[in-house]
Amino acid sequence: MSEDADEHRRLIIAGTGIAGLTAGIYAARANNEPLILEGDEPGGQLTLTTDVENYPGFSEGISGPELINEMKAQATKFGAETEHGIVESIDDSERPFRVRLQNGHVYTCDAFIAASGASARTLGIPGEDELMGYGLSTCATCDGAFFRGEDMLVVGGGDAAMEEATFLTKFADTVYLIHRREEFRAEDVWIDRVMEQVEEGDIEIRKNTEVTALHGTQEEGIDYVTLVEHPAGHPTEKLEDPETADEVNVYDFDVGAVFFAIGHTPNTDYLTETDVELNEDGYLRTEGGSGAGQTRTGVEGLFGAGDVVDYHYQQAVTAAGMGSKAAIDADEYLTELERAGELAEPDASPATADD
Ligand code: NAP
Repeated sequence: MSEDADEHRRLIIAGTGIAGLTAGIYAARANNEPLILEGDEPGGQLTLTTDVENYPGFSEGISGPELINEMKAQATKFGAETEHGIVESIDDSERPFRVRLQNGHVYTCDAFIAASGASARTLGIPGEDELMGYGLSTCATCDGAFFRGEDMLVVGGGDAAMEEATFLTKFADTVYLIHRREEFRAEDVWIDRVMEQVEEGDIEIRKNTEVTALHGTQEEGIDYVTLVEHPAGHPTEKLEDPETADEVNVYDFDVGAVFFAIGHTPNTDYLTETDVELNEDGYLRTEGGSGAGQTRTGVEGLFGAGDVVDYHYQQAVTAAGMGSKAAIDADEYLTELERAGELAEPDASPATADD
């Protein structure tokens, strides 16, 4: 084993979301004895969802946490191990890979599947850091009920913002949906649902509007926010431009809770020192296309699946599909290594792995 490695594994999967767990089920059934590392958001994005209505096989829907728990039980049943651990770095300069966790533990492994998902984006505005968890949230389904009876503000114009705004009408006095431009990005079906709530008087839409500051305290929560509005959209940009700054309407607005629903950032920091290719937003590039090896990255033995790769579909079912493909691709890779006698032995150092 390499000088600072504590343990060797045949296959490590980073992430216990849908992609990682599906990869775990397939890998365990292929006798690749996967270790699935669970990060700070166990179960991934799906655990932040109440009802999943579009996952095939559940005609009545299923709750996100329940689906994740079932998948975890299924993976474990076939021999996958799960462990809490956040990957700090991967050394892909030699084989086996060296995987360093934030807690200092170091694994070596013959193959690695990155299924570490994506985390909610924030705006980086004043008040955000202090008030996150104290009136500011990135998950309506997790936190909406805490603010029963309050006015709530949702930021975003995609499906997530529409879903969250609709969900929050259960608890809010009024939900204010704030979007930075005129057109929504969301699917028509979601916009229609929101418009029904607008007609009911439960949601009010403010387009061409952005939040520039959150005001409040951790003791009392959010008191009010500062909003900016410009009829041509993207008001903060207009505010920064001396030619349009005067046209921007800046005002304070009382609300009891704020929910950001402005998309996600992939969790790929630990891959930046490797030779895998990341796109300009940090998403992991895989081979894609049709035929074998779709989840391969540019680094042999390192595969990618789920939201860490997919910035477009981002669906539970597509993540599951990619997870299964990654496990199959990893199995083919490991089988080749085994045939060539190049698999690392559990207690062999990388220097002797080729012997
Ligand atoms: P998204 O589609 O990327 O939408 C993000 C929204 O946030 C956009 O409207 C964007 O505005 C806005 N935004 C981004 N950065 C902003 C900033 N700095 N300030 C103000 N606004 C900002 O993300 P999403 O809604 O999370 O959806 C991601 C994927 O998951 C999509 O493929 C979606 O279909 C899927 N999804 C599906 C469902 C469902 O069907 N049940 C639910 C949730 C998500 P612009 O439009 O101006 O860019």
